[in-house]
Amino acid sequence: MELIDGKAISAEIKDELKLKVEKLKSEGKEGCLAVIQVGNDPASSIYVKNKKKACEYIGIGSVSYELSENTSEEKLLGVIDDLNKNPDITGILVQLPLPSSICEDNIIKAISPEKDVDGFHPVNVGNLCGGRDCFVSCTPAGVIELLKRSNVDISGKSCVVIGRSNIVGKPMALLMLKENATVTICHSKTPNLKEVASKADILIVAMGKPKFVGAEYVKKGAVVIDVGIHRDENNKMCGDVDFEAVKDIASKITPVPGGVGPMTIAMLMKNCVKAIENK
Ligand code: NAP
Repeated sequence: MELIDGKAISAEIKDELKLKVEKLKSEGKEGCLAVIQVGNDPASSIYVKNKKKACEYIGIGSVSYELSENTSEEKLLGVIDDLNKNPDITGILVQLPLPSSICEDNIIKAISPEKDVDGFHPVNVGNLCGGRDCFVSCTPAGVIELLKRSNVDISGKSCVVIGRSNIVGKPMALLMLKENATVTICHSKTPNLKEVASKADILIVAMGKPKFVGAEYVKKGAVVIDVGIHRDENNKMCGDVDFEAVKDIASKITPVPGGVGPMTIAMLMKNCVKAIENK
């Protein structure tokens, strides 16, 4: 079994982006990411901090808006409108989840598609469906980079994606289809999940269930990508895949931590640079 090292691959991508940003600066093209956080959920605060750190590393600006938990939807829409109109801001990101009083869908739709570096706006989702150039959701885009940079041949392979969320599962399936895999999407109503999953050459698991996928879900020699992030009973990080049970069956596998996780921020940075290039 070979470990797919997401930490090393994400560092490589960030270094490539750093060079690209230097070149763009020399051509007079600069940009800035605006990160909006509503409330002070500790996990969200860590994500926001890491995103700003990554911007600093690759050499692009970032500004953060920390709004209180009881911010109204109207007020948040006003902040987004100002950022949409501000020519110095090239990327806008609203950290999810939002407090339940705010409709996430209204917020996602309010961000200008040209500044939507998370790739959640319906225009970007539609363009992804149509196979057009667009901002792609960062986690699934990161999985494609992991596969390509680990020399996994995708074309013609059978791929099973477990999970159909708008952020991971659905865009993941579309991206694998674009790479010419034969794709099956599974979800909580899929009967015989083990049987379906164990036919996959490439198994991508994004179900949000700690250590759910054991040996009987995996074909010998399959490539296994684990998107899940959890803390187990000993407060140790783990994924949706039971790594110990699967590691000797898979030909290549992503660990948790150090697999898909670090790729998400690297791909966010890639989208931020793309937004500057498009400016
Ligand atoms: P989500 O919105 O909760 O979606 C989970 C999906 O898994 C749903 O489509 C659900 O099916 C399916 N599912 C749940 N139980 C199942 C079962 N027993 N059998 C088959 N399918 C099942 O989660 P998400 O946002 O996609 O995230 C998935 C995981 O990835 C989570 O652990 C999350 O923390 C992690 N994540 C990691 C990153 C990263 O940067 N590495 C980024 C995002 C998410 P239904 O649609 O039928 O309910």
